Amino acid sequence: MEANAWMEQAEQAILHTYNRYQIVLERGEGVYLYDTNGKKYLDFAAGIAVQALGYGNKEYNDALKTQIDKLLHTSNLYYNQPTIEAAKKLCEVSGMERVFFTNSGTEAIEGAIKAAKKYACEKDGTTNHEIIAMEHSFHGRSLGALSVTGNAHYREPFEPLPGIVRFAEYNNLSSVESLVNEKTCAIILETVQGEGGIYPASEEFLTGVKQLCQEHGILLILDEIQCGMGRTGHMFAWQGYGVKPDIMACAKALGCGVPVGAFLMTKEVAESSLKPGDHGTTYGGNPFVGAAVSKVLDIFKEQKITAHVQDISVYLEEQLEQLKKDVPMIGARRGLGLMQGLELKPDVPAGEISRKSLEQGLLLITAGNNVLRFVPPLVIEKEHIDEMAGILRKIFSEYE
Ligand SMILES: *Cc1c(COP(=O)(O)O)cnc(C)c1O
Repeated sequence: MEANAWMEQAEQAILHTYNRYQIVLERGEGVYLYDTNGKKYLDFAAGIAVQALGYGNKEYNDALKTQIDKLLHTSNLYYNQPTIEAAKKLCEVSGMERVFFTNSGTEAIEGAIKAAKKYACEKDGTTNHEIIAMEHSFHGRSLGALSVTGNAHYREPFEPLPGIVRFAEYNNLSSVESLVNEKTCAIILETVQGEGGIYPASEEFLTGVKQLCQEHGILLILDEIQCGMGRTGHMFAWQGYGVKPDIMACAKALGCGVPVGAFLMTKEVAESSLKPGDHGTTYGGNPFVGAAVSKVLDIFKEQKITAHVQDISVYLEEQLEQLKKDVPMIGARRGLGLMQGLELKPDVPAGEISRKSLEQGLLLITAGNNVLRFVPPLVIEKEHIDEMAGILRKIFSEYE
């Protein structure tokens, strides 16, 4: 069947909540994807920062196949080995002490919020605690995660949303400070804002927020769903700042293609928050995803993925800086490691550049209205960065 016919059928059967790019992807190999016409694409989107290891990693695929033949699912009423292994390894690399596995990022945020609220309730015996979140943040699409998402366009049609949430300006400590009161139980933020336009937290800001939390007995929740799992050159972005959260949310590259998320916490939070009966999930942390997470963490260690990101991202930054110098349409570059953004001048539509790059065999996504987002597989090499920069140069040159 032709790609067009597939896309027509999709619109007849799948709820139209995405304006999809007009291709049907079929298979992947390394850092390249192929559509049903056999056209090849260099992938700088990685399934939205998910495919950290690229496509067709043999060790990872073999581990999944083995687990499928052994055991897929048992429910959380019983223990299973792969998930115990995964949890131990995740605690080891994060320095956090307890994990709850979910099926997605938004569920990891739900759990993180519940844990913070329960902790506050255990502490002072009251409810109705408040959360401080950030403008331009993105934490997911379920109602709880939406309640702390700063983008009003995503939020407003679904209001009233649960809980009292106050929004502060990201990277502005006094704006956070001014919202703190005796009911504040948590401050939630992305260590690097993703959807909002690739904004890393400044060091003073993150350190200041942590200090504020400690002074007032407030929990710090860091959303590491996009910026975690090696993307910034540290296993988790906060490790580069030396600011440890009380609760952390993780997903996206955690399973490298298998739907899994997690929220993690310190022992202290764990011991006085969610108890048996307070939270649960049927699928979350089943043996299949456990095997995936466990293998992903093994490969990260064996292949020294974070060290590779530290190396290769220097080259990506250089190339993006050079592009910015040469192309008048580019206003700014921001980012950490392999999570980078090029902000275009206000009259240049990033969506159009992204569609043109697709035509030229480069998958590139946007963040916000006018930012091109670079979140490639963490295993990319210089030659791929050169290929990407060449394609972008060609596209931008057509505008001159
Ligand atoms: C993608 C993302 C989420 C939501 O994750 P889903 O798996 O889509 O539910 C939450 N927070 C951040 C920072 C994200 O990038």
